[in-house]
Amino acid sequence: MSLKNKLQDKLQELKLVLNGAASIDFPGDPDFYPNTVRWSEYAAPQPGAVINVAIESDVQKTVQWAVQNNVKFVAQTGGHGWTTTWNIGESDIIINLRRMNNVSVNSKEGYAVIEGGALVQEVIDAAYGEKTHVVVGNCNSVGACGAMLGGGFSRLQANYSMSIDNIISVRLVTATGEIITVSATENSELLWCLKGAGHNFGIVTSAVVNAFPQINGGMHWESTMVFLPDHIEEITQAINDLDMGEGMSIHYAFTGLPPFGFPAIVVELWYAGTPAAAQKAFAPIFKLSPIHQESGPIPYNKINAVLDRGQYKGGFKPTWSVALEKLDPTAARDLWKHFLNFRLRHPSSKNSVVMFECYAFGKVRQVPENTASFPWRNLNFHICASLFYTDPAIDNDAIAWGDKFRQILQDASGMRQNKVYVNYATGDESLEEIYGYDEDRLNRLRAQKAVWDPEGRFSHYHPIL
Ligand SMILES: Cc1cc2nc3c(=O)[nH]c(=O)nc-3n(C[C@H](O)[C@H](O)[C@H](O)COP(=O)(O)OP(=O)(O)OC[C@H]3O[C@@H](n4cnc5c(N)ncnc54)[C@H](O)[C@@H]3O)c2cc1C
Repeated sequence: MSLKNKLQDKLQELKLVLNGAASIDFPGDPDFYPNTVRWSEYAAPQPGAVINVAIESDVQKTVQWAVQNNVKFVAQTGGHGWTTTWNIGESDIIINLRRMNNVSVNSKEGYAVIEGGALVQEVIDAAYGEKTHVVVGNCNSVGACGAMLGGGFSRLQANYSMSIDNIISVRLVTATGEIITVSATENSELLWCLKGAGHNFGIVTSAVVNAFPQINGGMHWESTMVFLPDHIEEITQAINDLDMGEGMSIHYAFTGLPPFGFPAIVVELWYAGTPAAAQKAFAPIFKLSPIHQESGPIPYNKINAVLDRGQYKGGFKPTWSVALEKLDPTAARDLWKHFLNFRLRHPSSKNSVVMFECYAFGKVRQVPENTASFPWRNLNFHICASLFYTDPAIDNDAIAWGDKFRQILQDASGMRQNKVYVNYATGDESLEEIYGYDEDRLNRLRAQKAVWDPEGRFSHYHPIL
């Protein structure tokens, strides 16, 4: 019997015990591709089946079944993880959490309950409906918990710190298929691990997180500025020097303008507050000379819409990232040349992007270091490059390009050690580059991994070895 048939055969037992709203798809089934397609298909898992779980006990039963049958598995929510560390093939399964996407908000008591399979937009919509803010990622189709478990960068971190700093408790299915609560009073050492290295320890079926009253009645502010490349040095310097206070966030990108992909510089500014306060906060950026600018108020539930264009699934999008203390104008110019060079060699890669993510870290640094395993509170800028293409013949050129992208930034940084946010890591970095150079931190993570997952069932996303 082939591996594929063996898996399909074994899964018949599991099917019998799952909730009626759950289902299993195999390659070739009409729903298999929609339920497994990822943001980037570069080095993506190639599972033999996808289990579409519907309720918490389905997750538990699926994990128990997989452990008993020695089948490798990985959970999936938004499918945006771009790591190359998956190691999931035709005799393995994906546990698709998307049917567990309920979000409820208690505005009076200031908390929200997010099911493990909810996307960022679903959390934003539920929170907006209750006139609250919940700290989630900035891209609508990303999994709220997938992003949170690595840290969870958010525009709202300028006011409330990152997603991990707003966790009250989570329910977790462990490697033995037990369901446990993790909070400051129950399994608190595990909570510390989940806050930054969470993909290594279990499947979050739901999380209780803080919900805050809306800022400015839910009306925020946004500006899109387009520049010609001759301004790169002054833009980079101005953003580097800007005092990123409450309410502020910036994406500074080398990208292709729609519809033809003309390479240009786009700066997106967001502010949680009034237009007048935004003008004041971003005054040094307004002194620059864009060729186009549109600014105005925006309801918070639409705040991510401008980024939707880069979120479609399918195609190859290998991605690299470097975390930095400061930006260097000369390095930015070198990156622009490097970016153009790839675009010229591969004209079909017009949606490729180099993104300087500039979030406010003031509130993030107010949270004591020892409350979470997340290692990079002291860093200010996270620069990511994603090459978008569909022809695998480009792979080798793309990999060489990505290595040079990182080298340019690392050489210019003056930092002795390379650092990367776990959710932005490529998969070829060292443990220290991802989880920090502090031996105590790594030892605490390793010790908890040995307690909760000694056989490495949850070791497909930047595994702690
Ligand atoms: C376009 C884009 C925008 C992004 N924007 C942001 C952003 O604003 N802020 C930010 O911090 N990051 C952002 N990221 C990075 C993102 O946090 C990671 O890619 C994250 O892993 C995506 O989670 P996912 O559920 O969408 O992906 P998946 O690939 O489904 O999951 C990624 C990993 O998380 C695990 N996982 C997912 N759900 C659960 C769960 N409930 N319990 C346990 N493990 C789970 C999976 O098993 C897998 O190991 C972005 C990525 C992309 C591609």
